[in-house]
Amino acid sequence: FIIPEFQGFAKDIEEIYWKCKSNTNGKVANYIPQLARMNPNYWGVSICTIDGQRFSIGDVNVPFTLQSCSKPLTYAIALDQLGEDLVHQYVGQEPSGRNFNELILDHNKKPHNPMINAGAILVCALLKTLVKPEMTLAEKFDFTMNYFERLAGGEDLGFNNAVFLSEREAADRNYALGFYMREHKCYPEKTSFRECMDFYFQCCSMETNCDVVSVMGATLANGGICPLTEEKVLNPESVRDVLSLMHSCGMYDYSGQFAFKVGLPAKSGVCGGLLVVIPNVMGICTWSPSLDALGNSCRGVQFCEELVEKFNFHRYDNL
Ligand code: GLN
Repeated sequence: FIIPEFQGFAKDIEEIYWKCKSNTNGKVANYIPQLARMNPNYWGVSICTIDGQRFSIGDVNVPFTLQSCSKPLTYAIALDQLGEDLVHQYVGQEPSGRNFNELILDHNKKPHNPMINAGAILVCALLKTLVKPEMTLAEKFDFTMNYFERLAGGEDLGFNNAVFLSEREAADRNYALGFYMREHKCYPEKTSFRECMDFYFQCCSMETNCDVVSVMGATLANGGICPLTEEKVLNPESVRDVLSLMHSCGMYDYSGQFAFKVGLPAKSGVCGGLLVVIPNVMGICTWSPSLDALGNSCRGVQFCEELVEKFNFHRYDNL
């Protein structure tokens, strides 16, 4: 086993869990009613190792929408299907140093990276327009959902239609980003703007829980092979790229500090989810809806900081 004393390890995780539970900082997202109604007390942590040992505590079966946690997943599919060279003709690899939805492109008039809204919208355009272009939007939705499910070891994923409809209504900034990119001819030819935006909102509205997301993390930790099914879902090269950009860009405008303090690839979402990968060891998902000023889950960030204090999981810890 990769974690030989798993029982003892789980006990330590449980201790950190309770420590973070008393953290009541932050506020739930309120740009749509479905998120504003979220109970800020929810708190769950799930772990899945690359050899399939699992531990979960708290609200790990309560569904939440992936939101930005879908960004590394759609990026992974695009890489796997189109290759790194093609994908990165359209989107950069540089942290933006700005908010996730800032109306800004890089010096080449490309989105900075696939982990912020502009980049993720563009990745959705690539998936829709260049990957199996004969597929309708409905078929592309199923195709993507099926990929997400295979990353999660075959668990069924849900889709929250109320969130999707609200996202689409309250999306002035995302449309602004979308149009700004169209003005600068960022999309592949033949991109349908409406379909691309809808597809982006759909990916944000996929619904799952802590337990399931930890398995997705474990698949990434394991180089693209799901530890539960042993299916090769992604190429190792794609996974390397995804983890690199999660490391440098996954935590909004806290990414640099997170890389410094925690030193692990992670991606947060506005619903309070946090997908963390310890390469070659395990996937972790934490979920708590209260967010800090930069949009990261307060308890999630604290959990990661406590975790690397207790264990030498920081990328540059002396193992
Ligand atoms: N649906 C959100 C948006 O596009 C997702 C962003 C996020 O999770 N930070 O604004």
